[in-house]
Amino acid sequence: MKESSWEIHISRITEEGLDLYPQLGEEWFRSWQEEDPGLEFAGPGTISGKVHLEKHGREILLRGHLEGALILSCSRCLDAYKAPVAADFDLLLEPGPEPAVPEEELTAEALDLDFYQGEVVDLERYFREQILLMVPLKPLCAETCKGICPRCGADLNREPCRCRAEKAESPLAAALAKLKK
Ligand SMILES: [Zn+2]
Ligand SMILES: [Zn+2]
Repeated sequence: MKESSWEIHISRITEEGLDLYPQLGEEWFRSWQEEDPGLEFAGPGTISGKVHLEKHGREILLRGHLEGALILSCSRCLDAYKAPVAADFDLLLEPGPEPAVPEEELTAEALDLDFYQGEVVDLERYFREQILLMVPLKPLCAETCKGICPRCGADLNREPCRCRAEKAESPLAAALAKLKK
């Protein structure tokens, strides 16, 4: 298993808490993508921000802000584009393995509940979760993206659709044109 620089031993969290300033760049995204080739990033993003850790007994409160840009594929034209993203999050981390309790019983809290193992909080995991939550369901390079014609494959942001020309030459189109006269 790869050693992660974001594994924080809970003894580092003092009375005042612990502040960290993650800078997640190209290298970080590349190693994530190597581990998880199913990721839908079109390239490495750049994310920075601040996290604050607080101990409350055995529970740990993780407050964070992450912002930056992700490289995504537009769901309409399939081009890679840079998507600005930002998110604030609060997570309450409880020690121990994730219990096999139905989800409903865990969501009574206003805070999102999560878990950490042993004496170590692996922030990497929460960074990844939060970044995945920032990816839009249908990424768009622009609201006005015209996409790709499903018939002729023309990228309509760059070139006109070729279907109309083909249609006009088809025998059916010619027959219809005649009927209209
Ligand atoms: Zn697009
Ligand atoms: Zn077309």
